[in-house]
Amino acid sequence: MTSLRTIRGFAFDLDGTIWAGPGLLPGAAELVADLREAGVPVVFATNSSRYGSPAIAAALARLGIPAEPREVVAAFDLTADEVLGLMGPVPVLALGTDDLAGSLARAGHTLLPPDRWGEARAVVVGNDPAFDYGRLRAASRAVAAGATFFAVNLDARFPVSDGFDPGCGALAEAVATAARVRPIVVGKPHPKLFEEAVARLGCPAGSAAMVGDSQASDIVGGRAAGMFTVWVAPGEDVPALVEPDLAVDDLVELRRLWLDAGASCAR
Ligand SMILES: [Mg+2]
Repeated sequence: MTSLRTIRGFAFDLDGTIWAGPGLLPGAAELVADLREAGVPVVFATNSSRYGSPAIAAALARLGIPAEPREVVAAFDLTADEVLGLMGPVPVLALGTDDLAGSLARAGHTLLPPDRWGEARAVVVGNDPAFDYGRLRAASRAVAAGATFFAVNLDARFPVSDGFDPGCGALAEAVATAARVRPIVVGKPHPKLFEEAVARLGCPAGSAAMVGDSQASDIVGGRAAGMFTVWVAPGEDVPALVEPDLAVDDLVELRRLWLDAGASCAR
């Protein structure tokens, strides 16, 4: 097994790995601080579809993990450019937060209200706190009529302090079902976010670790990107989709293993 001490950079998923709802998970702040102190770069690789990297970095800092926006790689931030790269600036019907609409507008796209779905060249679905039947109808009609369909991610859920909230994927699947069209997915497990994370870590993919709680997003995608995969599985009893390079109960255990690996290197 690749020793943890040969890893030159760590990419951490956020929801269910670094935090759950309003609080950090055990060991997160300590592990990130230790890695940084040892000169090992850290990025946060998140499927967030509600907020972009500046808001996420500020949230991390508030909770006790100082972070710069450039240390956060969010599917949110990649989405507007993905649409731009494939289509140029286009009229977009977006289901999502005001932040998502702002990000699309800043990239040069024109945002349409739901009642103008017929003018949409692209439909973008993020996690939409205002999701309702009218928005589902508008988005699915636009996609069925030929608008290109993008989902920020296909995560069914994200963990919060008292359980889970429906994820962007739950809403995107509703649109996909009604429109009978599959979306182009921007976030994990698709390669773009991992490639960006590895580029920001500044080391080869094989020397970079992807640490996350979702087998389908973090482990499958991290493996495909050539990264060392660490599955954080607090008591999960689910069949493995792909064997991770390392499985830990939480970041307390990962920190202990990383410190032990360092001690054995020093001997
Ligand atoms: Mg997660």
